[in-house]
Amino acid sequence: MSRKKQKAKQIAREHIDLLVEYALREKDGHLAARQARQAKKIAMHQRIHLPYEIRQLYCKRCKAFIVPGRSARVRVGRTKIRAVRITCLKCDHTYRKILVWNKDL
Ligand SMILES: [Zn+2]
Repeated sequence: MSRKKQKAKQIAREHIDLLVEYALREKDGHLAARQARQAKKIAMHQRIHLPYEIRQLYCKRCKAFIVPGRSARVRVGRTKIRAVRITCLKCDHTYRKILVWNKDL
């Protein structure tokens, strides 16, 4: 990969981080969704694999941007694996987000 492309990717990554940060802080749901979509678009365009923390902010089914506690219901499970169940309020899809793996398992 050329240096120029690497640089472009680096800038894109920073841009994505910023957009996601703004989206999380944004009180206006529509604006947040737009910023989140933009972040995803940049990632796709630059073929950047989004880190787990960012990926789990998008609903796996309807791809909506999920802000835990706002556009999603969060339930803490009572298993050995510390995980929360996140339900997308748009499509009602529930998935687990693992917080901490119990290393003793
Ligand atoms: Zn959804």
